[in-house]
Amino acid sequence: MLLEVKDLVVEVEGKRVLNGVNLAIREGETHVLLGPNGAGKSTLFLTILGFPKYEVVEGSILFKGEDITNLTTTERVQKGLGVSFQNPPTIRGVSVRDLLKFESKQDSDEELNPRMQELARKLKFSDEFLDRDVNRGFSGGEVKRSEILQLLAQEPLFTMFDEPDSGVDIENVELLAEELNVLLDKDKKPGQRRKAGLLITHLGYILNFIKADKAHVLMQGIIACSGGPDEILEDIRKEGFKGCVSCAQCNS
Ligand code: ADP
Ligand code: MG
Ligand code: MG
Repeated sequence: MLLEVKDLVVEVEGKRVLNGVNLAIREGETHVLLGPNGAGKSTLFLTILGFPKYEVVEGSILFKGEDITNLTTTERVQKGLGVSFQNPPTIRGVSVRDLLKFESKQDSDEELNPRMQELARKLKFSDEFLDRDVNRGFSGGEVKRSEILQLLAQEPLFTMFDEPDSGVDIENVELLAEELNVLLDKDKKPGQRRKAGLLITHLGYILNFIKADKAHVLMQGIIACSGGPDEILEDIRKEGFKGCVSCAQCNS
C-alpha cells in the first residue's frame, strides 16, 4: 500500500468531523472521493497532510508503510505527499515564478527551468502571469491551474486534488485533466516508483478524462460506500448520496 488511513477520528476546533475513516490506496491507483458538502472531504485531505488544526483523536495514517500520523506537514511533503487546495491562500510578495523555483528545488536567482516554462505555457500561463503574486486577483480557473502547475514542480508520489475542476471553464477541464494524469502517473515507466492519488470532485465531469480505479462516498464523517467509479456515480445521479448508505458494496 502507498497510503493507508486506519479508523481515523478527527476533531477540528473541538468538533468531531471524521468518525472512523478507512482507506487503502496502492501504487498506481487513482481513487475518487465524493460526498455532500460538509461531509469532511477537505478535512480528510488536510489531516493526511498534517495541518495542526486537524486533531487526530484515534487511528493512524501510513505512507509507504510508515506511520506518519505524528509527523509535521513539512516532513510529509518531503516524503512525497502533495495537495491542491480547494481554496488556497493568496501569498503577497511571492510570485508564481518564485514559488515554482522553490518547489522544483531551484535557486531563486536561476532562470525557471525549461520543463516548468513549458508546463506553464501548456497550462495557458504567460510569462508576465508568472510574475504575479500567488493567487492574488486570480480567477477561479487560474487558481486551479496554478495549483496543478505547483504540483508538477513538486512531483509528489501521492497527490490529493481537492475539487480541481470547480470554477474551471468547461473547455479547460480536459487540459487540466491531462496534467492530472501526468501527476497520477498513467504512463508507467519500467523501474520507476508508481505514483497514486485521491481526487475530490463535485460533478464528476473531470472523470470523463481521468481513469479512476475506485470511488468512495464520505458521509457524516465515514466512508458510506465504495466501489467502481461508474457504478457509484450512476447511483448518485439516480438517487443522490442517500442511495449510498445501504449500497451492496459498502466498506468493500
Ligand atoms: P467538505 O470538504 O466535505 O465539504 P469540510 O471538510 O470542509 O467538508 O468540512 C467538514 C465539517 O468540518 C464542516 O462542518 C466544517 O464546517 C467543519 N470544518 C472544516 N474545517 C474547519 C475549520 N478549519 N474550522 C472549523 N470548522 C471546520
Ligand atoms: Mg465543500
Ligand atoms: Mg471541501
